[in-house]
Amino acid sequence: MKNIVIFGAPGSGKGTQSDKIVEKYGFKHISTGDVLRNEIKNGTELGKTADSFIKDGKLLPDSLMTDILASVFDKLVPTEGVIFDGFPRTIAQAEALDKMLQARGTEVKAMIELSVPNEELVKRLLLRGKISGRSDDNETTIRKRLEVYNTQTAPLIDWYEKQGKHYHINGVGKVDEIFDAISAVINRLA
Ligand code: ADP
Repeated sequence: MKNIVIFGAPGSGKGTQSDKIVEKYGFKHISTGDVLRNEIKNGTELGKTADSFIKDGKLLPDSLMTDILASVFDKLVPTEGVIFDGFPRTIAQAEALDKMLQARGTEVKAMIELSVPNEELVKRLLLRGKISGRSDDNETTIRKRLEVYNTQTAPLIDWYEKQGKHYHINGVGKVDEIFDAISAVINRLA
């Protein structure tokens, strides 16, 4: 199974590229952000908890996210591969993901990082905010999310690099060109 972590700051294009990976390779896509927004929409208890963190641009607790991820993963029908989008966001989550996959006889094959400069991210997210209606796509929350990314999430680049699983891709440019670079990585995976 080709399990791939699609990685990058908010606004780096993970969701857009994930859709293209699903279309070309038939992989399943797990977006923890989408899972949480769906819970919010349905007014569940989890949704209420998630809403309070997301509005502030904060991460939900690792243990809660790890449980959510395992339950979503276990509902997937057997597949060629899974794209993890928005998880892991901390070292603790990456360790939990490894454990979870190991217990199921599989592993993360690659972490594909989309790198985009900060000011470009802010621009993209403000633009998205105009149409998405997301409670976290406003300037204050965007700055907070980028700070959280830089302090809590970016250390995962080194973490995966040390395991020889990190692939860096320039996330600025045409969507299709970025996707070609991603495809080249996926095609090379055993
Ligand atoms: P983006 O990448 O644009 O920030 P996401 O849709 O991936 O957006 O996530 C939106 C919000 O959901 C995050 O800011 C965070 O509050 C919460 N969230 C999503 N995934 C996780 C996770 N793995 N751990 C903790 N919080 C998460």
